[in-house]
This record gives sequence, structure tokens and C-alpha cells, in this order.
Amino acid sequence: MNDQCLFCGIVAGEVPHTKVSEDDTMYAFMDINPASDGHLLVIPKRHSVDLLDISSDDLTAVTLAAQRIARTVVEELGADGVNLLNCCGADAWQTVFHFHLHVVPRYVDKTKDR
Ligand code: 5GP
Ligand code: ZN
Repeated sequence: MNDQCLFCGIVAGEVPHTKVSEDDTMYAFMDINPASDGHLLVIPKRHSVDLLDISSDDLTAVTLAAQRIARTVVEELGADGVNLLNCCGADAWQTVFHFHLHVVPRYVDKTKDR
């Protein structure tokens, strides 16, 4: 855990958030500023800064979890597609420096996209 890290604070339960799921390795929660209905973030519990820093084991676990959650989102929310996104580095629009995958459901009904 990195004491200065917002997402480590979420995993530790120190920062209010809406949890989606967790296991030994990963944690998923709703994005506070969603780009669409159901936009959520999947992160490793172990602190990693970004795509270049994360271990292969954590990257595998987080990616597989994102796939599982995306399938559930499509079923439960009736999404018509999903964006799986990662920003690596400030110049690539990363703003929180704890690795995360965005799972962004997309809809034919554009009132559900923001
Ligand atoms: P990035 O720009 O690093 O790829 O994405 C960071 C994401 O974290 C953004 O989509 C932003 O809305 C989300 N975020 C920032 N602060 C918080 C917070 O305190 N709680 C939650 N749930 N999401 C946050
Ligand atoms: Zn962290």
C-alpha cells in the first residue's frame, strides 16, 4: 500500500466508493465521474503505478477480471458494446497513478453515454 495513493485508500476502505467486486488480487469500483452508465474501474490491490510498472501476474488477474465484469455488465445493463481503456503516463491522460482499467459500457441509446 502507498499511503499517498487514492486508489490504495479505496482498497483499504478509507475513501468512500461504490464497490463492484473483489478477490485476493483485484478490486473493482464505480468511477466517480462516469463516461456512461456503468463505467467502472478494475485495479490490482497491490500498488502499481501504471502499465509499465505492473507485474505480469497482476496484469493478468486484472485483465481477466475486467473481461468477467464486462460480460456481466453487458448482460445486466444491456450494454451494446464495451470500451476497455488504460491511460499510461500523464501525457497519455493518466490522472491517478495506481494502475487501472476502465470498463466503459456503450449503448445505442446515447442518453446513457456522457
Ligand atoms: P485516468 O485519467 O487516470 O485514466 O482515470 C482516473 C479515473 O479515476 C477517472 O475516470 C476519475 O473519474 C476516477 N476517479 C478519480 N478520483 C476518484 C475517486 O475518488 N473515486 C472514484 N470512484 N473514482 C475516481
Ligand atoms: Zn495505490
